[in-house]
Amino acid sequence: MYQRLDFSHERDLNIDDLSRRLEAYYPDADFALLKKAYTFAEKAHSGQKRSSGEDYIIHPINVAGTLIKLKLDMDSIVAGLLHDVVEDCGVTPEEIEKEFSHNIAQIVVGLTKISKIKFKTKEESQAENFRKMVVAMAKDLRVIIVKLADRMHNMRTLQYVNEDKQKKIAKETLDIYVPLASRLGINSVKAELEDLCLRFLHPDIYYRLAEKVTMKKSERDNYIKEVIDHIQEKLLEYSLKADVKGRPKHFFSIYKKMIARGVDFEQIQDVLAFRVIVNNITECYKGLGIIHSSMTPIPGRFKDYIAIPKVNNYQSLHTTVIGPKANRIEIQIRTHDMDEVAETGVAAHWKYKEGMASGETRPDWVQELLEFNQNVENNNEFMAAVKSDLDVGGVFVFTPTGDVRELRYGATPLDFAYAVHTEVGNKCVGAKINGKMVPLKYTLKSGDTVEILTSKNQTPSKDWLSMVKSSRAKSKIKQYLLKIERDENKELGKEVLEKAFRVFGTSLKAVQKTGEFAKACEEFSVANAEDLFIQIGSGKYGPKEFINTIPSLKKEEDADDKIDELDSYTKKVTSTARKKSNKDNAVIVDGMDDLMVRMARCCNPIPGDPIVGYITRGRGITVHTATCDRIDSGDIGRNIDVNWNTEFSFKHPVNIRVITHDKPGILSNISKSITSIGVNIRSALAKSLPDRKGSFIFEIEVKDYSELLKVTGMIEGHEEVISVTRV
Ligand code: MN
Repeated sequence: MYQRLDFSHERDLNIDDLSRRLEAYYPDADFALLKKAYTFAEKAHSGQKRSSGEDYIIHPINVAGTLIKLKLDMDSIVAGLLHDVVEDCGVTPEEIEKEFSHNIAQIVVGLTKISKIKFKTKEESQAENFRKMVVAMAKDLRVIIVKLADRMHNMRTLQYVNEDKQKKIAKETLDIYVPLASRLGINSVKAELEDLCLRFLHPDIYYRLAEKVTMKKSERDNYIKEVIDHIQEKLLEYSLKADVKGRPKHFFSIYKKMIARGVDFEQIQDVLAFRVIVNNITECYKGLGIIHSSMTPIPGRFKDYIAIPKVNNYQSLHTTVIGPKANRIEIQIRTHDMDEVAETGVAAHWKYKEGMASGETRPDWVQELLEFNQNVENNNEFMAAVKSDLDVGGVFVFTPTGDVRELRYGATPLDFAYAVHTEVGNKCVGAKINGKMVPLKYTLKSGDTVEILTSKNQTPSKDWLSMVKSSRAKSKIKQYLLKIERDENKELGKEVLEKAFRVFGTSLKAVQKTGEFAKACEEFSVANAEDLFIQIGSGKYGPKEFINTIPSLKKEEDADDKIDELDSYTKKVTSTARKKSNKDNAVIVDGMDDLMVRMARCCNPIPGDPIVGYITRGRGITVHTATCDRIDSGDIGRNIDVNWNTEFSFKHPVNIRVITHDKPGILSNISKSITSIGVNIRSALAKSLPDRKGSFIFEIEVKDYSELLKVTGMIEGHEEVISVTRV
């Protein structure tokens, strides 16, 4: 007979038991640290009770106990003892880091975050999101292992909470934690959780199965022994030494078979499972051959998970045979190593191993999973599966009330704000991430709690378009900007027409009352006056064109001139015109074409300089050199990506200071060499310095940085020159 690892609630478990059990596999563990964590947790939880009425500390002790059974490392065990102190006792992660270590604090923080998630069981997709999020948040998979141990103990003591809560937690466990345990290959935990879920979700079925499986126990035990002896005997005939074990399957797997085959318990014959553990892979196949030749195999039931391991690394040979007394029995054949993996999955990676220094840094877990599987051939398939399963498509963040939102990678608080509501987006002025103010450009990370700050005076601006990742946010911002543009155009168009009609000694209002206005609108195919204003304001039509379609207007002598003037004024101020002229900017601002851009005076960037845009309070953008110390690094949210427009050619004024030894004719010599390469000097300022030195400041015009370099090189070529600097 063999038992799975038993994680049952141990109400008398204490710190000395933990030490003793730890010592059994990890003799030189840091027992003082274990004791310290226990004392810390006990003090923090003092006065708190479990639903069972027991002191709270029994919970973390049991969680640590489970982790010790999984033979995990010190970080995990200590984190297990401390796992609820941040959430339930107001201890800060900083305190844990100070008292224990950074790694331990990180595991506890990860656990605290997971526990804050509000989970809606109804929605399948939410379950999937949740699972992905847990993985995304827990870059250190030990967080999930400790979480599983935590959940296991909560499930073990679920009888103490009310029925509603029992069902809710059991459902959540089945939806989330069972698949996680399965994916991570921690089958001992998975099986236990499944049975506990069955017990609370379908108590009738659970207790009927329990009764039937335990019924005729001695008879069954005798039968199990008979099968084991039979297998051992056959193996020994071929001198194959093996550990052979047998037991009833766990309830949930029987239940699943009943559901899958649509039959009752009585019709499920293969309720017993046997394991044959051998030393190597060759012996696995040899053992299979021996078993198949001594007991009749059931066709179609043989599975070779050694050649093709499951994605969670599970390896074993499975077969079902007709055993003694014509009972179907399932047999799994595997090596000792495979058996360990089957029981504890990825947890095996953090197992204490002899000779391993405590706190030794390990490669990240993906790497570990890779190495873990390096002796199997289908590595690529395995990695692909790990990736599709564990890599998540986006970031998962919380609202302040604990709701989960999935956003794209690189999403910012603005994306989040628009995901909540368009108005929240439009009015967003800033955000707090995990309680700290961040710039709007901040890149959200999974697990962040995002609080959006709004102001009724806020409106979206063009530069926001470069700060958002989601198409929803982009389209909402564009929508808003279009509306603003429409409104502005409408105003402008109306204003222009009013002026135009005044030229003719009448007013827009008066003309609107005549049938001619409506007729003219028809001719321009606009639906109404508003549309007309917008068309004129946008520059699509000039006021002159419109006026020409109204024959009754009496022209005064200079009307033509005035209208022409008005027309050219309109052309300059309409948005079409604005866009056109700004295409000629020296700098391109990330996809936007009609922003006010100007060069900062402090650093006066020229093409070729690395630059950064800085959003000024009045909507425009100032371009600084990337190294300019006037850019406030604390205000990074107002920076925007800008690039030099390579098609734009323009001479940029630059000042250079030249210090020389004072010699007659030097100014003229330098000036000549500058103009000799076709560079214009706008002005030159000369000053005498002590020690017979001179200082000149030239304002020159250059195309770009490389031209400037040419100039400075030229000047440095004069042997009187001491230094040349850009100012
Ligand atoms: Mn807990």
